[in-house]
Amino acid sequence: MTTSVLVLGAGFGGLELSSRLSQELGDRVHVTLIDRSDAFVFGFSKLDVLFGKKTSEAVRLPYRELATPHVGFRRETITAIDPGARRVTTDGGTYEADVLVVALGADYDLGATPGLAETGHEFYSVPGAEALRDVLPSFRAGTAIVGVCGAPFKCPPAPSEAAILLDEYLHERGVRDDVRIQVVIPFGTPVPPSPATSEAILARFAERGIEFVRDRRVAALDPAAHEAVLDDGSRLPFDLFLGIPVHRAPAVVEVSGMTRGGWIPVDPGTLATRFPGVYAVGDVTSVGTPKAGVFSEGAARVVADQLVARIRGESEPPGYDGTGSCWIEFGGHEVARVDVDFFSTPGHPTGTFTPPSVRTAEEKVEFGTSRRARWFGVVTG
Ligand SMILES: Cc1cc2nc3c(=O)[nH]c(=O)nc-3n(C[C@H](O)[C@H](O)[C@H](O)COP(=O)(O)OP(=O)(O)OC[C@H]3O[C@@H](n4cnc5c(N)ncnc54)[C@H](O)[C@@H]3O)c2cc1C
Repeated sequence: MTTSVLVLGAGFGGLELSSRLSQELGDRVHVTLIDRSDAFVFGFSKLDVLFGKKTSEAVRLPYRELATPHVGFRRETITAIDPGARRVTTDGGTYEADVLVVALGADYDLGATPGLAETGHEFYSVPGAEALRDVLPSFRAGTAIVGVCGAPFKCPPAPSEAAILLDEYLHERGVRDDVRIQVVIPFGTPVPPSPATSEAILARFAERGIEFVRDRRVAALDPAAHEAVLDDGSRLPFDLFLGIPVHRAPAVVEVSGMTRGGWIPVDPGTLATRFPGVYAVGDVTSVGTPKAGVFSEGAARVVADQLVARIRGESEPPGYDGTGSCWIEFGGHEVARVDVDFFSTPGHPTGTFTPPSVRTAEEKVEFGTSRRARWFGVVTG
């Protein structure tokens, strides 16, 4: 008997889940993978696009090149999810399956921050990173703010990485002395689970003259005054605003009735939702790990392993452990790593820091290369 699995979203979570099921179960499973896009882009590639290191074309991994023989990819937009019936409607048809996995990530809500769309920029989407890349060359003097508009947000180190890379970019252009860089983050430190990582980032900020505005969120941009209005009412003037927009579950998930407090609650060990046969992985959940690709794929692996064991009649595999490694760009071709553990001591995540080096930068490249090979069959680049 073939088990049908419907995977919604072909990001980190959906790609890892479908490729693992295909690899482990062959034709004992039939996977349908649905995404509205025609290509996958690693989150960290948006920083390469922003600073003109790679073109958007170079970082796209087209879904037509998926290397997963037992997976049927459909480029369609999901318009309704009925988790009770495990029925999904798209602009191309209706699907039902034995198992439904929601891996639809997080959407950006620019409208939640008044003034952001008119006066600011965001670099969390490819079009946003492209638009900022195009204005950067004409930015020669003034204040640049890298500002977080709401939490939770994807990849907590990314605002700090953007500030460090912006400093380097401006330095290389010979205009750094004429620019003030400020980072506004709604946490007390850049990476709260790892004091050593935060210390290293703050030391780099101090060395490079980057100002850190802690425990504050950008609530609005005032287009007339060109000021960022923070959540305590204070104001920071800016000439260029690089924003991290408010994140929310995709609207189709919100209206499905699956969310509580904005995100899909799941059993942290199994990633099961309260609907039988329905799982959710990655950024769309409130599982308790940060919104980052490594955690989405780790959760997807756990769901895949449970399905594989069930279909083969084997014993239940270990549950999700909430661990993952994040790479952090430090400039000068050096990358640091933080290995974080969110579940071992509940409520007290911990992180181990590996200082920036060229060696760790190579590890990050290897991380991307291995995913390209696993999901798309691409062996170089
Ligand atoms: C600047 C930046 C840097 C980052 N750096 C890192 C990093 O170094 N390491 C790391 O681990 N993470 C990083 N991330 C975070 C990472 O990209 C995300 O956390 C990760 O992609 C989440 O995976 P996911 O599978 O949960 O969702 P996603 O990868 O976002 O996938 C969701 C998919 O669902 C699709 N979708 C949504 N709605 C619909 C719909 N209605 N119909 C059809 N399809 C739909 C989308 O097109 C998308 O392909 C970074 C992110 C950014 C923005």
